[in-house]
Amino acid sequence: MPELPEVESTRRGIERALSGQSVRELRVYDHRLRWPVDERIAPQLAGQAVLGVGRRAKYLLLRLERGTLILHLGMSGNLRVLPAATPRLKHDQFDLLISSGLAVRFNDPRRFGSLHYTTEQPEQHHLLRALAPEPLEAGFDADYLHRITRRRRVAVKQLLMNSRLVTGVGNIYASESLFRARIHPRRAARRLSHRDCASVVRAVRAALRAAIRAGGTTLRDYVGTDGSPGYFRQKLYVYERDGQPCRVCGTLIRRIAQTQRSSYFCPHCQH
Ligand SMILES: [Zn+2]
Repeated sequence: MPELPEVESTRRGIERALSGQSVRELRVYDHRLRWPVDERIAPQLAGQAVLGVGRRAKYLLLRLERGTLILHLGMSGNLRVLPAATPRLKHDQFDLLISSGLAVRFNDPRRFGSLHYTTEQPEQHHLLRALAPEPLEAGFDADYLHRITRRRRVAVKQLLMNSRLVTGVGNIYASESLFRARIHPRRAARRLSHRDCASVVRAVRAALRAAIRAGGTTLRDYVGTDGSPGYFRQKLYVYERDGQPCRVCGTLIRRIAQTQRSSYFCPHCQH
């Protein structure tokens, strides 16, 4: 599943293609996404200039002159930027045709992605209104993390993956962040000191930024990922490295199950 770095890499890729352009047409080939694509969207878009491409959590926000397209990649979606005449593949769900002659093409085999359009402030849209703080922005800091962990019995790893508390940190980056912070994934969240919380915040940001940088290097005309971490995989410290030596101390990385998800950690470096 695409996590925040993959979505951010996609954002950067399509922003390059869309900047300075306007929309020619939205062509929907299959309306059956997670929510059916509203047929009233397409007629409103033609001719609108693209003002920019933003991101909130794992939603891409295509800001147009009179409204905003809100796109989610779902479990398996990806966007490619290609000449509009390129033959379609199976599971290509829609094309956003732009004035340069290119298309931003959405492919989503499992159809958990979504496309909405709003002429209001996108932050007020029902999908975005209640989202937790962004890990790379100011609201996610040691004070916030310390406050929300005080009465939580859950392990810190589960807490980081709770999208109601912080958005966009999935299994890969929760494991990687806790390694960087030297904190054991099973540590009870309420037992984190304020200093631990500061390390976790720094570690989450560093892990996400490193992944975004690596994702950026994989993008050219093909934008998006199949959910694999791309080149960043070579730089992972612990994720799916069980049985291999820790890159810091040489101890073998271990895997444990936490609420049916695998967690990876170094038993020497993390406490
Ligand atoms: Zn180690």
